[in-house]
Amino acid sequence: MIMYIMNLVSTGIKDLLLQMLLVIFPVFVLQITWRNYISNSEKNIRHKTIGLFTVCGVILCLLFPVFIPTQYILDLSFIILIIAVVYSGYVTGLFAFATILLMKIFVLQVFTLFDFFNLAFVIVFCILFVRNYENSNRVLKVSFFTTLACLAAVFQVLAIIFLMTKDSNAVITGEITLIFFMYPVVSMTSIWMVVHLNENIREKQKMEMEIQRTERMNIIGHLAASVAHEIRNPMTVVRGFMQIFNKETFIPDNKKIYLQLMIEELDRAEGIINDYLSLARPKIEKQDRINVKQQIQSVYEIILSYAVLNNVSLTLNVEDDLHVMGIPEKVNQVLINLIKNSVEASPDGELIEIAAYQEEDKVIISVKDQGVGLTQEEIKLLGTPFYTTKENGTGLGLMVCYQIIKAMNGKFDVVSEKNKGTEFIIKLPAV
Ligand code: ADP
Ligand code: MG
Repeated sequence: MIMYIMNLVSTGIKDLLLQMLLVIFPVFVLQITWRNYISNSEKNIRHKTIGLFTVCGVILCLLFPVFIPTQYILDLSFIILIIAVVYSGYVTGLFAFATILLMKIFVLQVFTLFDFFNLAFVIVFCILFVRNYENSNRVLKVSFFTTLACLAAVFQVLAIIFLMTKDSNAVITGEITLIFFMYPVVSMTSIWMVVHLNENIREKQKMEMEIQRTERMNIIGHLAASVAHEIRNPMTVVRGFMQIFNKETFIPDNKKIYLQLMIEELDRAEGIINDYLSLARPKIEKQDRINVKQQIQSVYEIILSYAVLNNVSLTLNVEDDLHVMGIPEKVNQVLINLIKNSVEASPDGELIEIAAYQEEDKVIISVKDQGVGLTQEEIKLLGTPFYTTKENGTGLGLMVCYQIIKAMNGKFDVVSEKNKGTEFIIKLPAV
């Protein structure tokens, strides 16, 4: 009995296990090369490395496949195809696809149209799913890919059984039947492991980034507290005297323009210092019940002249009776920062829509522009200290906004498309 089982399990299953090992191998390459924020040239190298290892993985898989006598093979190269599409992009995916086809046609000479359809099916579904990949949770990802792998494997087995029944030389023995059963199982296990490994790597990286970010914020906070305050006092004195000079008659009017300019520049410096100071202040102070409509109305009045000056119009669409807990000045600061960014991002004549409404137990405040927009990479950088694309920017505005909303137990969402516009969505618990 034992001998019989040993015989059954022999080569075929061994080959299948080898396939599994070969499939997991590219994941380790990914682990070495995967980092959250890397420069474009590094990205390029990374893509090439992954591409190279993918192709190697595929070739190895196909060099040591599971042979089904007399002329059929089973292999897990399609799993590498999935990894390539999902974690490296469809260009690498197409490379892997081409390699599999070429190997099967020219080297192994086992190609059937079924192979082509099966691989095409896998690649199309992967590309479709990858669009929502970042937004899906792990359970969804794992179930999607195991299902896909199972379907592809079962299809492959059925295709071979179909071809074998047409082939008078082929016999489906006990060992072959066992392999047919094991193949989908091994496929699913492999992809299950691969996705989990990859997700673990990503999560760890993200956490590291988060920690780095918090550390940087702390440093800025300390710096801000010690320096900003000391600078503000002398500046106030200078500004005061300049205003006095500005009223004097012994200075000719054509020189007073310069004084006015100096005052404006001092005000700008003051604005920057205020940005820093708001980082240094303790996060949670006494919170009040805020009427969102009133709050937005008052911000609207403050910011309207700024918008008009920049040839941008503002519309309000705010429901009555929305309330949140928070500090009114801070909420003002968030709204002003967001609207100012939108104004700065909008070309002349565009519209900025400010809306607020209730959705279940959340109050949603949205600021939407039709400006320059952001790429996915840029969205990830929003809120990191000193990230700015403006000549005079501080790169602190959004960071302060994120902090304030976080302290209010709220959430920030950014929806944006390059050259179409950006929407900042704040979700706060309603009271
Ligand atoms: P700053 O305004 O000083 O540059 P912020 O933290 O307010 O700093 O913004 C950081 C960066 O985010 C900006 O430089 C800009 O590139 C980008 N950004 C913010 N809001 C928008 C928006 N509504 N549309 C396009 N880009 C934006
Ligand atoms: Mg700003």
